[in-house]
Amino acid sequence: MCNFIAMNSIQNNLSTLKSNLPERVSLVAVSKTKSENELLQAYDAGQRIFGENKIQEMATKFEALPKDIEWHMIGHVQTNKVKYMAPFVDMIHTVDSIKLLKEIQKQALKNDRVIKCLIQVRIAKEETKFGIPSNELDPLLKHAKSFSNIKIKGLMGMASFTKNKKQIRNEFKLLANLFKYHSDLQVLSMGMSGDYLIAIEEGANMIRVGSKIFGERNY
Ligand SMILES: *Cc1c(COP(=O)(O)O)cnc(C)c1O
Repeated sequence: MCNFIAMNSIQNNLSTLKSNLPERVSLVAVSKTKSENELLQAYDAGQRIFGENKIQEMATKFEALPKDIEWHMIGHVQTNKVKYMAPFVDMIHTVDSIKLLKEIQKQALKNDRVIKCLIQVRIAKEETKFGIPSNELDPLLKHAKSFSNIKIKGLMGMASFTKNKKQIRNEFKLLANLFKYHSDLQVLSMGMSGDYLIAIEEGANMIRVGSKIFGERNY
């Protein structure tokens, strides 16, 4: 009975969310920590893009679940683990160094694939280790063009964890401006459960939403 209610709530959450999304916005359902059964509920409702933040967990789910799912890596990537996702990952949102690009290139080539990547830019005012400072974006993009098995599709960013909506909006604006400046990029990945509406207003065309679909996570 419990399961029955949970299943329906995932599908309801998903359809409510999607009914309010503009056509241009694609939805990454962030399924980290969630069970294969929970992912399947979203799959059965038509969801095909799933985001995970741990490579091992994503690989296990990839093995178990339907093969037409697009797997997006949205967590920090350790170079030595790229090989475990290279055979199947569709897009990596969190590229933040040339060293990581080199390893993705090497593993993509081994698997005879082209892997789509986003550069993660540090837009939050708060202290965070992840993402490159915006002034390092141009050189990294230039360098990335030389890799035959990597396609840089766009930019990803996370706003500060704060209730201050104005600050969140300003941080998204910063990323949106960088995105507009690089008119050869297609994907602007920003916005999570708490701030995706602001992100869309500021131009996001890919959002990464977890708890609003699957409920709160118990770590
Ligand atoms: C967990 C996570 C999300 C989704 O967070 P929710 O608040 O549950 O929607 C989005 N992006 C990244 C990078 C995450 O790690």
